[in-house]
Amino acid sequence: MMTSNEPDIEDLTFDPTVIATVVEDQGTFEMEVCGSDTPEVDLYKGYWRCQKDPKHDGFIQISKFSKAHLPGPFQDDEDIFRTIEPQAFLTVRLRVYYISTERPKLFPGSSKPYPFANSAGKKVSRVGTGRVDSVYIPSERWARRGSRERGKTDAKGSNSDVSLLNYDGPCPCHVCRNSTNPAQIWGKVTIVTSTHVLFDQSEVKHSGVALFYDEDTTRADQVVTLSGHSVGYKSKYKDMCVLYCPTHDLDLLKKLNDALLMYPGYVNRITQKHARTESSLAFVTSHPHGCSKKVSIGAWTDKEEQGDNETLERIRYTYTASTCHGSSGAPVCLVGGWPAESQAAWWALYPLATHSDGFRKDCNKSGNAYRVPFM
Ligand SMILES: [Zn+2]
Ligand SMILES: [Zn+2]
Repeated sequence: MMTSNEPDIEDLTFDPTVIATVVEDQGTFEMEVCGSDTPEVDLYKGYWRCQKDPKHDGFIQISKFSKAHLPGPFQDDEDIFRTIEPQAFLTVRLRVYYISTERPKLFPGSSKPYPFANSAGKKVSRVGTGRVDSVYIPSERWARRGSRERGKTDAKGSNSDVSLLNYDGPCPCHVCRNSTNPAQIWGKVTIVTSTHVLFDQSEVKHSGVALFYDEDTTRADQVVTLSGHSVGYKSKYKDMCVLYCPTHDLDLLKKLNDALLMYPGYVNRITQKHARTESSLAFVTSHPHGCSKKVSIGAWTDKEEQGDNETLERIRYTYTASTCHGSSGAPVCLVGGWPAESQAAWWALYPLATHSDGFRKDCNKSGNAYRVPFM
C-alpha cells in the first residue's frame, strides 16, 4: 500500500457528523471522501466496503491489461491498445482538501444537489481523478534570455495560457515554497478534471496531484506529487475544470510531453477508424476509491445532446465501463457506436470526456464531451 507523500494539510475535519453530511451530499457523484487522518488506510477500506461494485471485477490493473479485455470488434485493433497506454500514463489522482463557498446549491440543469455544497468552507479531504492535458517546458534559450522572456512559447510551439502563473519569479511548487534556494527555471503541468472535483481557485490552493500510482505495489518514492496552483478554464455546466501545477522537474515535463505527443493522435485515429463501427467502446482510466490506477472497458449506450453541430452546448455520454467513488474527473474515451443509417455522426468528433456521475452500476455518465486536444 502506498503511503501518501503529498503536501501536509493542516486542520482537516474528521468529525463523523461532518463526514456523513459530505458523503450524503455527494449523491451519485463519485469522489472518495476520506473520513480519518490515515487517508491511505481509509481508501482501501472504501474499496473493500464498496456497495456499488463490491467485486470490482470490471477494474483491470494497468500491467495486467490485455487484448482479451476488449470487446470483439475492437480486439484486433492494436491502436486501441496504443491509445489506452498513454491515457493511463497521463491519468492522475487528485486530492482536494477544501470545499469552496461558491459551490452552487443545485447541479446546473438538474434538480440534483451540487456535491458538497452544504459543507461549504469545511476542510474535508476528497479524492478524484484527472488527466494531464498539456505541459509547458521552459527552454534553455528562454532561460538564458532572462525571465521576462520566459513563458511565451510552450512545447507544442503555441502560446498557451500562462497568465495565471507568474514566470518572472522562482518556482512556486510546494517544495520550492518551503526552500531557501527555490528553482529559477520551471514549467507547468495542465490537468483536466471535473468541476465538481475541483471547483475554483479557493479549492486549487488546497489540492495535490499524484502521478504514476499505477500498481498496488507502487512505492511512495515512485509516485510524483505536484500541488495545485491555479484554475484556468472551468464550466460548471460542462462539469469540466482545468488546473495548473507548477514544477521544476524538467525530466517529468519531458516524460509527460512524450506521452502527450502520442495520445491525441491515437484518439483521433481510433475515432476515425471506427467511424463506421456499429458497436461502441468506452474506456475509462481512473483511481477507484483513490487506490491504484485501473482501466475499465465497456460500451457507450446513450448520449444526451443539447444544441446542434453549429451551436453545440452539450453532449454527455452514458457508458457501462466501471467507475466507483474516486473515478470522478477521470478521462473517458468513446469510440464507434454509429447507427448504420447515420451519414455524419458529428458527435464522434467529441471522443473525450471527464467522468461525472456514477448513476448506477453499468450506467455511468460523463460531463461535456470535447475535441482533442482540448487546449
Ligand atoms: Zn467500488
Ligand atoms: Zn519547484
